[in-house]
Amino acid sequence: MLWAGKKLNVDTTVVVKREMAAPIKVVVTGAAGQIAYSLLYQIASGAVFGPEQPVYLHLLDIAPMMGVLEGVVMELADCALPLLAGVLPTANPEEAFKDVSAAFLVGAMPRREGMERKDLLSANVRIFKEQGQALDKVARKDVKILVVGNPANTNALICSKYAPSIPKENFTAMTRLDQNRAQSQLAAKLGVPVKDVKNVVIWGNHSSTQFPDASNAIVNIGGAEKSVPKAINDDEFLKTTFVSTVQKRGAAVIAARKMSSALSAAKAASDHMRDWFLGTGDRWVSMGVVSDGSYGTPRDVVYSFPVTVSNGKWKIVQGLTISDFAREKLDLTGKELVEEKQDALDVCKD
Ligand code: NDP
Repeated sequence: MLWAGKKLNVDTTVVVKREMAAPIKVVVTGAAGQIAYSLLYQIASGAVFGPEQPVYLHLLDIAPMMGVLEGVVMELADCALPLLAGVLPTANPEEAFKDVSAAFLVGAMPRREGMERKDLLSANVRIFKEQGQALDKVARKDVKILVVGNPANTNALICSKYAPSIPKENFTAMTRLDQNRAQSQLAAKLGVPVKDVKNVVIWGNHSSTQFPDASNAIVNIGGAEKSVPKAINDDEFLKTTFVSTVQKRGAAVIAARKMSSALSAAKAASDHMRDWFLGTGDRWVSMGVVSDGSYGTPRDVVYSFPVTVSNGKWKIVQGLTISDFAREKLDLTGKELVEEKQDALDVCKD
């Protein structure tokens, strides 16, 4: 068994008794960063792929971060996690993506002060082009890819463009943190546990144009299901305060903590991948997926929709009524994604 390139003596008795599945290889990029610091434990403890599924973690970061990454590898060893079959820290994308079944693409170029959107896109296009090419070459063809690094939707699109041998459906972007935030806000407003609220939707881009939509959400009150808008009975709140609180929640956490919301981002990434692998039942979850034009959205951008998942395949929830208010919001965030796509494609030509 390999651990950071060294042979380890591991007692296999437990493995034999439980007849565990063979380990799957899972890559996390930006593995020395803040989000990965929370995410790696969640993956290695069984919270994502289930309590019977061992994982072999591939950790990718840039060369200057290899020292920090070594510390992360030491801590993973010190967690003594029964499901962790091995760890491979590396700065080489082809090594990192080799034979992986799941990819968490967390590392991305951070937005620096004064940076234009095009500069940010340009830096990220280079990263996600290289990673798409490496995935195309060495990953399993059924690999499930979740992009967390911002601008996540467009990074996912670029990654897919450079990995033509992997189906487009396998590339997704994270809007689950926005969904979790929205669900939590509604539960607090209604005074119910967060688990009793479902089917809130995040539409569009993971940016300030995203549209958190409670119009189809359902709350369980005293064992009976009720529409959230009816239970809240305050349309103005749902159209204004609710939307802006969710949109600005990341900034509010930074203002309070002086650091970004890495813990909740990691939890959301775990939720996204777990639901993709293990299914959602009839619960809706929001995922950035390549748009097929559903709900009059622009095709071929990575747009967040409500989806359900079964047998590892997501399906956009169809047939929802879109109000005039929602229509405007869906169009606005779609327009931004089309512009981001165009900017990113312009960079690809250079
Ligand atoms: P974080 O781990 O905090 O964030 C990583 C990415 O996730 C950023 O793009 C960030 O976007 C995004 N993100 C999405 N949702 C959230 C959220 N709710 N809160 C915070 N971030 C969110 O960044 P660190 O700087 O700690 O770590 C990044 C790591 O990535 C570093 O170790 C760096 O070396 C590595 N990296 C790796 C690359 C590679 O593998 N090729 C390339 C570039 C960097 P935002 O910037 O908008 O907050």
